[in-house]
Amino acid sequence: MALTARWAKSVLDYDPFGGDQGDPGDYTLRDVIVESCRKAGTCHDCGQGFAQGMTIRKIEVRDPDRIRTYKWCRACCDAMALSWTDGGDAISARHRLRMARGRQGQAPGPGADGA
Ligand SMILES: [Zn+2]
Repeated sequence: MALTARWAKSVLDYDPFGGDQGDPGDYTLRDVIVESCRKAGTCHDCGQGFAQGMTIRKIEVRDPDRIRTYKWCRACCDAMALSWTDGGDAISARHRLRMARGRQGQAPGPGADGA
């Protein structure tokens, strides 16, 4: 999918936490599309690595103790954008990728960024 303002809005309108995130005192500091990330990392949804320079979604959440950073790879961003028209099929497929990795004992923990 092309990286357009409309694409970015479709991605950002999708709540990747499905309402799970949100203890009292938590709030989102930033929720942005990063066109060229500065560091390689691991996607929060699919558990796949992404390289430096990739387009990712990045959310920073502040809780009472620390700031947590979550990142999503471009493929998961595309799936989020598609979720408005495909009933969530693409994003479900991304989640299955992570579960498949989890069965091999390689799943990263939530927010396992090290920051
Ligand atoms: Zn991903």
